[in-house]
Amino acid sequence: MANPAGQSAARVGIIAAMDRELDALLADFDAARIELVISRAFHCGVLHGREAVAVVAGIGKTAVATTTTLLVQHFGVQSVVLIGAAGRVSEELSIGDVVVATHLVHHDLDASPLFPRYHVPTLGTARLAADESVSSLAYSAAQRFIAAEPGNTSKVVKGLVLSGDQFMDATQIRDLRRRFPDALAVEMEGAAVAQVCLESGTPYAVVRSISDDGNADTFERFLQSECGRYARGIISKLMAATA
Ligand code: SAH
Repeated sequence: MANPAGQSAARVGIIAAMDRELDALLADFDAARIELVISRAFHCGVLHGREAVAVVAGIGKTAVATTTTLLVQHFGVQSVVLIGAAGRVSEELSIGDVVVATHLVHHDLDASPLFPRYHVPTLGTARLAADESVSSLAYSAAQRFIAAEPGNTSKVVKGLVLSGDQFMDATQIRDLRRRFPDALAVEMEGAAVAQVCLESGTPYAVVRSISDDGNADTFERFLQSECGRYARGIISKLMAATA
């Protein structure tokens, strides 16, 4: 729905963990102003015709949990999209493929024997469900982005994403595959965004491009050369579809 200024009333929050994931996308903002809150720069403005607030949260679950809370409570966003890189868990995937989360699990949360392993007590479950409507818009946006890239044959898939406060190497990823046979990818923020969004009733999606299979050099290469372009391309298609 458009407001009198012709902009969409539903302001969207866009989060990435690192500058390299968000830098390219920030160039597309119109009329952006920056508000600093707890040392984070929140870019508020219009992105492809839609009101948006974009922010680099920092790496890890605490950094994104506080940032997501601010987006919802202070900036009044009505939906949240987390975008960035992730390690490959499913052997069906390759670097450059895009994963849209249907569910997220904190793979490092364990209050057993008080609760089952991975269980989030405030939500009464381990598998945190992403919002179907925002996620399906993100899925189609990612498909349109890949299809528009000459020579890019990457896949876009939906499924389980794991989050924890560690960069996972190849050995740790093998262990994750054993513990979560249906997991697609691992990263360090998604489940925390999921938890804040579910607790606050905010629709959200988590979109990750596969950057590595546990190797830090491969990750750095993807981060330098591809990650920002993926985020910019996918978010621009998503904003244009919902403006
Ligand atoms: N070298 C970076 C640290 C990156 S941590 C720096 O110094 O700033 C990895 C980031 O990419 C996290 O935000 C995480 O969400 C994602 N990620 C990519 N590959 C990952 C992997 N194999 N394990 C965990 N997180 C991964």
